[in-house]
Amino acid sequence: MGDTAPARPDAVKPWDILGELISAAAAGGGPERLAAVLDRFELPGFLGFFTSQEPAGFRPFLTARAAANLGQTGVAALVRALSETLGALAEGQGTASAQPVAVEYAARSRAHCFPIYDGEAVAGGVVSSADSECAGLPRIVECLQVLLSRASMEAQMRAYGQAIDFLNDIYRSNLERQEAEAALGVEITLSKLAQLFRFDAAALALPESDGWIMLHWLSTDCPPTFAGEVRRQTLTALERVQGASQESVRHVMLWQHRPPPAVPEPNSYFIHTLQFDQQGRRAGMLGLYSASQDILTTVEVQLLVLLTPGLAIAFRNSQLLFALERQAKVDEMTGLYNYRTFRALLGREFTRLERYGEPLSLVLLDIDFFKKVNDTYGHQMGDQVLRSLAKLLMESKRGVDAVARYGGEEFVMVLPDTDADGAAQLAERVRKHVSSQPILPDRPLTVSMGVATFTASARGTQDELIHRADMALYRAKQSGRNRVEAG
Ligand code: GH3
Ligand code: MG
Ligand code: MG
Repeated sequence: MGDTAPARPDAVKPWDILGELISAAAAGGGPERLAAVLDRFELPGFLGFFTSQEPAGFRPFLTARAAANLGQTGVAALVRALSETLGALAEGQGTASAQPVAVEYAARSRAHCFPIYDGEAVAGGVVSSADSECAGLPRIVECLQVLLSRASMEAQMRAYGQAIDFLNDIYRSNLERQEAEAALGVEITLSKLAQLFRFDAAALALPESDGWIMLHWLSTDCPPTFAGEVRRQTLTALERVQGASQESVRHVMLWQHRPPPAVPEPNSYFIHTLQFDQQGRRAGMLGLYSASQDILTTVEVQLLVLLTPGLAIAFRNSQLLFALERQAKVDEMTGLYNYRTFRALLGREFTRLERYGEPLSLVLLDIDFFKKVNDTYGHQMGDQVLRSLAKLLMESKRGVDAVARYGGEEFVMVLPDTDADGAAQLAERVRKHVSSQPILPDRPLTVSMGVATFTASARGTQDELIHRADMALYRAKQSGRNRVEAG
């Protein structure tokens, strides 16, 4: 943040703008700084905002583009019309609603003004062109409402600015972190927010296609009995506000529970339930819980309402990435690594072989007479057999070994730091295990395997290792199947 290069319009997200606005305010920036932030984002239709100026009157902060488009006379006319409109509101002649007020400032020139109130008084207004849509404007109005109406909030804002910076970091790192667990960003974010806003537990409910997902979070010094209360209260709010039913909510615990320290059981809970994303879509819900006292001020609640869509975005992004990442790495049918990932892993293991001289073994496995399985029981049963075998292979490997689907009914195991004897033993164990399992309804399923090993002193290319395992597998088939051969 704080860079001054103009943001590309196509890259603008309301989340970025809000984050920058709040950070600017937190850094002690007045309306000028806020105007400079808004100026960098070329929001279609957005003209600027006005603030009240003592002793009387309003001061305009138009974007450079709006000022250039309107020209000097246009700006003067708009300022005059807005002063009259806002002045009328300030004198109690206007309506005190969140609806925009139409402002005519020249022949056939109309703008919309969203008044900003500070208590009963009008503190300013946000102005947009009446002719073009400004996406995300309601959020910006809300944000400016909070930022401009409370002059005394600066110190508080500094702290919240840190939270925003942090949220932005999370949001961005989610886009980069390849192995991001879908909920991790939300978990870290909630723990950070908990420090700043002093809550003990939270539940974030987000709409899914067929119901809701509710992510629960408890601070580590929160008694585990709190979890039930968190779930119950947020669910009640979700039912009341969103019409969700208990059955439609899928619960996910975010926290890894550690033994709680000696905290006395709280006998009362204070709860805030915040709704967000009210744009005609199903909203999300954030429940915040405190065991000690009701700590959130009205302003804090307002800020949290602004922040929560960011939590939802962070979660959705990491979820999406995680799914994409998985799709690219994993064979859909069996859940094992696919061929591409196998080659990547093998490459990595070769580096280790070359650097540390650790032996590396490969086991190629092929189901015996699999065509017959398909012919006898049908293709669907064949698929089921592949899934059962995949599960079994996963169970028989050590933590560091990788199992992949090599192709149709062929699998491969990569065994780092395993010599020829070790690999042959593992293969033999797998062979016996497979034939002893009731995978087929009326007879044992058998597999043939070829093992190949490279050592520091006897090694070649990756393709050569695979070829040797393949040749060994071929010999296992030739010598009657249901056996292990080493290459
Ligand atoms: P052997 O390996 O013992 O020599 O005999 P086999 O019958 O297993 O050998 P082959 O390689 O000729 O046949 C493999 C069969 O596996 C052919 C193909 O239809 C089947 N197959 C490959 N992929 C799949 C799959 O994803 N699902 C199912 N159901 N069958 C598959
Ligand atoms: Mg085959
Ligand atoms: Mg086969």
